[in-house]
Amino acid sequence: MATNEDLAELLFPDVTKTIEDLEREYPLRNLPEGAQVTRFAPSPTGFLHTGSLFTSMISYTYAKQSGGVYYFRLEDTDTKRTIEGSGELLIEQLKQFGIIADEGYTPDGDIGAYGPYQQSKRKDIYRTVIKELVRRGRAYPDFCTPEDLDAIRAIQEAKKELPGYYGVYARDRNLTADERIERIKAGVPYVIRFYSLGDHERKVKFNDAIRGEIELQDNDTDVVILKSDGLPTYHFAHVCDDHFMRTTCITRGEEWIPSTPIHLDMFRALGWKPPKYAHIPSIMKLDNGNRRKLSKRKDPEAAVSYFLDEGYPTESLLVYLMSIANSNFEEWSITTKTFDLSKFKFSLKKMSFDGALFDQDKLNYFSKEIIVRIPIDELYDRVVAFAKAHDEFLLQRIQSNPEFFKKAINIDRDKPNPRKDFAKYKDIYPRIRFFYADEWEKMVESLPFRDTLRPYVKELLLDFKDKMLLGVDESTWWNSVKEIGEAHGFASSNKDFKLNPEKYHGSVSDCAEVLRVAITGTDQSPSLHAVLEILGKEEVCRRLEEIAKKF
Ligand code: GLU
Repeated sequence: MATNEDLAELLFPDVTKTIEDLEREYPLRNLPEGAQVTRFAPSPTGFLHTGSLFTSMISYTYAKQSGGVYYFRLEDTDTKRTIEGSGELLIEQLKQFGIIADEGYTPDGDIGAYGPYQQSKRKDIYRTVIKELVRRGRAYPDFCTPEDLDAIRAIQEAKKELPGYYGVYARDRNLTADERIERIKAGVPYVIRFYSLGDHERKVKFNDAIRGEIELQDNDTDVVILKSDGLPTYHFAHVCDDHFMRTTCITRGEEWIPSTPIHLDMFRALGWKPPKYAHIPSIMKLDNGNRRKLSKRKDPEAAVSYFLDEGYPTESLLVYLMSIANSNFEEWSITTKTFDLSKFKFSLKKMSFDGALFDQDKLNYFSKEIIVRIPIDELYDRVVAFAKAHDEFLLQRIQSNPEFFKKAINIDRDKPNPRKDFAKYKDIYPRIRFFYADEWEKMVESLPFRDTLRPYVKELLLDFKDKMLLGVDESTWWNSVKEIGEAHGFASSNKDFKLNPEKYHGSVSDCAEVLRVAITGTDQSPSLHAVLEILGKEEVCRRLEEIAKKF
């Protein structure tokens, strides 16, 4: 009578290593007490999703703040979904956000002593562990065809039983070693399944590092662990990998909560202590009043590249995501007046369980605060880099006169209450386009002068052209504006105007509005004095004259 030992030898004749060998090869890490080993383990199926950036940021921060290790593992066992080059792309995109792994897969080869860090290269490890499970009767070949599995499902549906390969429905679970060997020798195709000893009637509990105790029905399904293509399934691969890579905390999406009992079942079967699990909430979106997960198909903001294309500084997105992760972050940033994530103490325990709603206004708020703090030379360099990658026209504009552009974007930033106009680099040009003569020419076709001020526009502008002081400090300039206004029947202060409204056409601020509209094409612009100084006397006079002529 054949034994499981014979079966294991027949299935994996080339495997000579044992689990003990692997334990020695990947020893426990020598890290200080409390140091966490975390990982980001994406499948190479496309670009970086906002939810993945969120998960990897948490994983990275948790490891780094504890003095531990953060590594990158490529989970490429689903060959049908794999997209060539996306592992590289993910690493590249994460790098832009400063999320750089201490260890892991890189396009130029692995870094670290716990590799390979690419699942498709870890076949020997999986096969070693599975061989041992087969020996112990905790894994077995299953010869069901897709049709057999359909038939099982049809019976389960008819009986209103749970679908799956478990208990009496696990057709090949109780074959003898002889029967198994005979089929293998006859060339019948098979997959390898886990032999579960779990009981669906029982509950299993585990302590989630974010959610606290979670209680779920125990697993009793004999899940596939090795597919017919020789690659493992996620369930099994992550158990092996996180064990031998000595992960201390598995940070992964909350969609994995329901399958955690399967994973715990396998850890039990192998006699391994499972790492902590921290299931990260999904980022949600309001859609017609309903909350739903951010969707790759429907929402542009589900892809991290959207934010980069829009010109959000990478730290803005990280800071925003941190504000979702820990709701005390916002208050911390207000009190400390800083957005430096390396100074914020992140806590898994302070994470909310329900997915946060994606809030573009909040992102914009943080981003404006962040952009206004970037020193002008650096901001300039960043906008140039953005233009090089995304906006040829903007690049030409900048290059036509770099100093002029730099001055235009720097207005009102260096003061106690700076203007926070820009949430992203894409916001910049629309707000400063009036500086460029060709843009201004387009704007003059429909200038938003107020109807009540129109009768005075021509005379005011001509006098501004002749008498307004330029090349002087702001208050001297402003006095000259007041004087010109007074000469045309405008009160020199709002107070005077309010006291005697019938005496005046308006106040000096109305005069300034006329000037502003003529020069900038809008009634909302940054500091007019700064604008006039940047444009220079010649251009200011030319603009004033051209508009005056139209009246
Ligand atoms: N490859 C899995 C995924 O992309 C990773 C889950 C995990 O982090 O364990 O969803």
